[in-house]
Amino acid sequence: MHLRAIKLRGFKSFPDPVEVRLEPGVAVVVGPNGSGKSNVADAIVWAAGSLAPSELRAEKPDDVLFAGGGGRAAEDFCEVELLFDNADGDGPLPYSELSVARRLHRGGEGQYLLNRTSVRRIDLVELLADLGLGGGMHSIIGQGRVEEILASKADQRRELLEEAAG
Ligand code: ATP
Repeated sequence: MHLRAIKLRGFKSFPDPVEVRLEPGVAVVVGPNGSGKSNVADAIVWAAGSLAPSELRAEKPDDVLFAGGGGRAAEDFCEVELLFDNADGDGPLPYSELSVARRLHRGGEGQYLLNRTSVRRIDLVELLADLGLGGGMHSIIGQGRVEEILASKADQRRELLEEAAG
């Protein structure tokens, strides 16, 4: 099972609908400073149900909405969808494709969707934990942490690798 695409709309620096397609293996996002590379990673963390301002680089829930700029007005709605390819059938659900999405209207509570059906946040978070994507699972390591990990002691690094490998 692998993450095949990330679809964003209205999220942080992506006011227009954007689809980032990923092949199996390693994908690299390249761009100048401040061009929005980390916002793509933030989008994955957000869609996976994170509520932590520190993980999302957003103080308030509405801060993930495009705030306006470059002559464009702010957006009042955002959506991020993660599309997992499960053609191999080794994922936790019997679908060849798994769609996980999160939506937010400004000032609203937000909504979580699994294959386009509304679900509770906890259901989505538990499903993603089965896939190895979730808080504390080291599936996403932020920029600042790379240096911290490289500088850590061998036994600490081993602990992290073992946790990440499940
Ligand atoms: P670096 O290489 O410096 O780490 P980066 O390519 O990872 O940068 P990001 O941190 O992803 O860049 O993006 C920062 C940009 O996103 C800034 O220009 C910032 O203004 C913009 N941005 C962040 N949140 C929002 C928002 N809610 N609305 C509009 N723009 C936003």
